[in-house]
Amino acid sequence: MKVLLHMCCGPCAIAPVGLLREEGFEVEGFFYNPNIHPYSEYIKRYEAVLAASERLDLNTIYHRYDFEHFLKVVSCVEDRVRQHSLCWRIRLEETARAARAHGAGAFTTTLLSSPYQDVLEITRLGREIAAAEGLEFVMRDFRKGFAQSHKLSREWELYHQNYCGCVYSEKEAIEQRAKKGLTS
Ligand code: SF4
Repeated sequence: MKVLLHMCCGPCAIAPVGLLREEGFEVEGFFYNPNIHPYSEYIKRYEAVLAASERLDLNTIYHRYDFEHFLKVVSCVEDRVRQHSLCWRIRLEETARAARAHGAGAFTTTLLSSPYQDVLEITRLGREIAAAEGLEFVMRDFRKGFAQSHKLSREWELYHQNYCGCVYSEKEAIEQRAKKGLTS
C-alpha cells in the first residue's frame, strides 16, 4: 500500500521512512508546514527536507506555505494546548487530502517521532481525519528511531531546528535560553 508521510522536518523523517519501508509500504513524502515562522526558518527546514529526501531516495511533494491560513485558525486561540491541536489538525487534514489526490490509501506523520509532541492527540486526530476521508492512519512508534535518526542527520549535516515552529514556540525557546544564560 502507498502511504503519504507528512514530514515536519528532515531529521525526523529518517526513521519513519525506514520503518515504513521495512513493513512493505511504498512511501511518498509530503512537506506542508504553514506553522513555521519566520519564512527564513521555513526555507531552512524545506532545504533540509530536500536533502533528506535525496539521501533517502524519497519522492516528496512540496505543498504551499499558506502561513495566512495558520494564522487565521490558530492566532485567535489563546490556550496553548488547543493551539497545538489545531496546528496538527491543519497539517493532517491537508496530508489526507493530498493522500487521496495522489492515490495513497494511507497517511501518517513524522510528528509521531518527536518526544516533544503529544502522540496520543496526534493519533486521535489522525484516526478521526482518516475515517472522514476513507483512508487509513498509520500509527507507529517512530520515537524508537529518534536518536538514531538524529545521529544520522548530523552526519548528513542536515539543519536541526531549536524550536517547534510557530512564533509562539520561537518566543518561548528564546526566553528559556535567556533564563539559562544562553545567547543563541
Ligand atoms: S508549538 Fe508547535 S505544535 Fe504548537 S502551535 Fe506552535 S508549531 Fe504548532
